Amino acid sequence: LNPLVEISHLKQYFPIKGGIFGQTINYVKAVDDISFTIYEGETLSIVGESGCGKSTTGRAILRLDEPTAGEIHFRQKDVLALGRSELRKLRKEMQVIFQDPFASLNPRQTVRQILGEALAVQNVIPRDKRPERIKELLAGVGLRPDHIDRYPHEFSGGQRQRIGIARALAVEPKLIVCDEAVSALDVSIQAQVLNLLKHLQSEYKLTYLFISHDLGVVRHISDRVAVMYLGKIVEIAEKTKLFENPQHPYTKALLSSIPAPGGAVKKERILLTGDVPSPINPPQGCRFHTRCPQAAERCKHQEPALRRLGEDHQAACHLLDAR
Ligand code: SF4
Ligand code: MG
Repeated sequence: LNPLVEISHLKQYFPIKGGIFGQTINYVKAVDDISFTIYEGETLSIVGESGCGKSTTGRAILRLDEPTAGEIHFRQKDVLALGRSELRKLRKEMQVIFQDPFASLNPRQTVRQILGEALAVQNVIPRDKRPERIKELLAGVGLRPDHIDRYPHEFSGGQRQRIGIARALAVEPKLIVCDEAVSALDVSIQAQVLNLLKHLQSEYKLTYLFISHDLGVVRHISDRVAVMYLGKIVEIAEKTKLFENPQHPYTKALLSSIPAPGGAVKKERILLTGDVPSPINPPQGCRFHTRCPQAAERCKHQEPALRRLGEDHQAACHLLDAR
């Protein structure tokens, strides 16, 4: 497996302004020192509750935000050191699909204009060849090519997401960040769009970073899964290992809340007490200790490191240290 994106010690702190002078009085530590690799051709999912830092991680990789610290390498290229023109080239390699296609599609533009713009910005194809290409793209995502002159509101939610996918595909990217890409859709439509994404992945050799709070969706689409809690990766593993043999207490709790596939006997539900603490002043030691059913004294002071538990399986918990 070849690494496509290598993220090391990524931090994303957002300043909080306050006081009479509007100075920075604190930081939201949205992502706080995470490292992981996305391999070519895989689907790596990031799961976690809202505010855990998963979207922030995606935005940093796309360089939509400037990270506070850390390194991001895309095909060995230092993404954070790129100048304007190189960054433009990189934009062609990395695309994003958002949750709400209606918000990200200009309502005053037809599909021809929306996709035409994507092709024009990156100059992928000569102007006179674009209409043909747009029709191909539409057919490729299961939309009718003769609907090329329709506006976003003339499509259903699922169809609009297909337009968003076609727009991402237009520039022939290597990586697509899917941020809650099917979360706004009905369950039956979700399955269709997920299947389309899988199909396109094998056809175009795409790599996905799939960001979602929905474990059912993640189970369906992923090769590997990273679980985030309060700005940290607490567990990362090959999908089956994570779902069938979770090691981190937080992962176990998350998984206990979803129905087992095929109506198998459900594991006992682990209820977490309390709310997710604020990412402004996250708990010392293990960030999960305020909610962890297995927390020990040591967990309050000492931060557990992500450690290798076996082939393609890492977790960060003191309970696992002795093994
Ligand atoms: Fe729970 Fe301690 Fe493990 Fe954190 S390190 S997950 S508090 S047992
Ligand atoms: Mg989000």
